[in-house]
Amino acid sequence: MRTPDADFIIVGSGPAGVSAAFPLIAAGRRVLMLDAGNDAGWEDESRSARVLGSNLESLRADDGSSPKLQTPVARGILERFRRESGITGDGFTPVASLVRGGLSNIWGAQISYLDAEDIAGWPIDIELLQRSYERVSQRIGISTNADLTAGANSASILPLGATAAHVLHRHEIAKPADGSFRLFPAVNAILSEARPGRAACDLRGDCLYGCPSGAIYNSRQDLLALQKSPHFRLLDNMRAISLTSNAGWTIGTADGSSFSAPRIILAAGVLGTAALLADLLPIGGEGLRLLNSPTLAIPLLSPARLLRSATATHSLAQLGLSLRYGERASEYVTGAIYEVGSLPAQSFVNRMPLGRKAGRAAFETIAGSLLVATIYYPGDQCRSYIHREAAGKGMTVRGGFADGFDTRAKDLKRRLRREWKRLGLVPLPGASLAEPGIDAHFAGTLPMGAAGPFGTSADGELNLHPGLHVVDGSVLPDLSSKYITMTIMANADRIAHRLAQTEANPAL
Ligand SMILES: Cc1cc2nc3c(=O)[nH]c(=O)nc-3n(C[C@H](O)[C@H](O)[C@H](O)COP(=O)(O)OP(=O)(O)OC[C@H]3O[C@@H](n4cnc5c(N)ncnc54)[C@H](O)[C@@H]3O)c2cc1C
Ligand code: SF4
Repeated sequence: MRTPDADFIIVGSGPAGVSAAFPLIAAGRRVLMLDAGNDAGWEDESRSARVLGSNLESLRADDGSSPKLQTPVARGILERFRRESGITGDGFTPVASLVRGGLSNIWGAQISYLDAEDIAGWPIDIELLQRSYERVSQRIGISTNADLTAGANSASILPLGATAAHVLHRHEIAKPADGSFRLFPAVNAILSEARPGRAACDLRGDCLYGCPSGAIYNSRQDLLALQKSPHFRLLDNMRAISLTSNAGWTIGTADGSSFSAPRIILAAGVLGTAALLADLLPIGGEGLRLLNSPTLAIPLLSPARLLRSATATHSLAQLGLSLRYGERASEYVTGAIYEVGSLPAQSFVNRMPLGRKAGRAAFETIAGSLLVATIYYPGDQCRSYIHREAAGKGMTVRGGFADGFDTRAKDLKRRLRREWKRLGLVPLPGASLAEPGIDAHFAGTLPMGAAGPFGTSADGELNLHPGLHVVDGSVLPDLSSKYITMTIMANADRIAHRLAQTEANPAL
């Protein structure tokens, strides 16, 4: 290996990459981060440019995906990945990014924590993960929604919208039809109090169009802190395209540059990391198993709130929920309830069984009483595989659902209907199962603790390639239905703490 450029090279500046960088630089290790994106952002654009797009992208037809994926910012992020990554979908929408900060530019910021049962098959202790959860939570800033009219007074809270507060109140006074049904205030990575460089949430509800005040966590914010360290260097516009082993590792980038280090840390997102490793893994005809979460969206009406005006709040998740659908530990769904008042009208108008004009009039009358529930299944309910195409033709993700999923989904909808009724909610027509990939909850391609060519160690080191570590969702051995990013960040933090303790060149 030529003279190393750093002790560790991290590929990717999303939530996983920055979470791996902090422990390494704190231990005095030299870290070089390569990212395909650059510092171009949306914070400084006018509101109309963020909402409509500089080329009026938002006026394009609704493509049926989540409202969050239809904003100009989201379309820009997804399109660049589609154009340049070499990954396409077949029955699968490859939601991934090639921009600074990755998908944290557009994420919903809802937080879940896994428990000992969720990680029973993983080669790590829950205590270690919990310590990392604590460190990451402190760093990114977490708040819980609460009904302020009911006298909540903790520091890290934001007000629940009036319709969500009404539904939570109904839940608290009437016993669930199914004993496993839980409804609770959502926990989000949104600041309720200002921090240096980030303002507290202003409750204006513009969240879908990029949060100009920085109240929603975005890993770009962490890069500013990392760049203050003399041990950290970030290089923009460096799209990694090759990895070569030569007594250490050399990364080649699309502009013809190359960089070397004893150890490489891949944090390019599950699809980005798979694309980078395509030539190093024996991916055969069956493909590489990818776990994703089948996702259901259900529009709901709260008749008790009809014609009442919405109250000031953010437009990310208001409430969280969970419900068991089977006996096994993993057989539960997780979800969120959003207030619709501040979401883009066309996403709902297009799904209503009315003409556009009538749909818009109806929407404006009832918006304050509308909610949307999104429900996530665990990853074993999908059948998605990443396939290599003939030489030079890239990769295709083929998406699908597990056998019997339809029946289970019908049964779950029936059981949820009983809970909606108890909560005084009426499910509206237009419930939809998203195309696999739209969920953007990906894991399991290179599981920690698995034997064989696709397995990795508890440190995310590839069994086949010592010195190559993976810290994004690829290494999570299974995908529960809970929101995944906090666990990706905590696991990256945990792995980096272990790597920070290793000798300078042990991979050589
Ligand atoms: C609309 C939406 C809503 C979401 N809501 C939630 C939510 O509420 N809660 C939750 O937990 N999760 C949510 N997610 C998922 C969350 O965004 C991802 O889990 C998280 O961003 C993954 O972090 P990551 O760092 O692994 O990957 P990414 O965020 O994808 O970052 C990958 C990084 O790698 C870089 N990169 C990729 N390939 C290369 C290459 N070849 N060379 C150099 N750099 C490269 C990219 O530029 C990027 O910086 C949501 C996602 C979407 C799209
Ligand atoms: S309402 Fe949304 S966009 Fe506005 S500051 Fe709060 S989180 Fe950011």
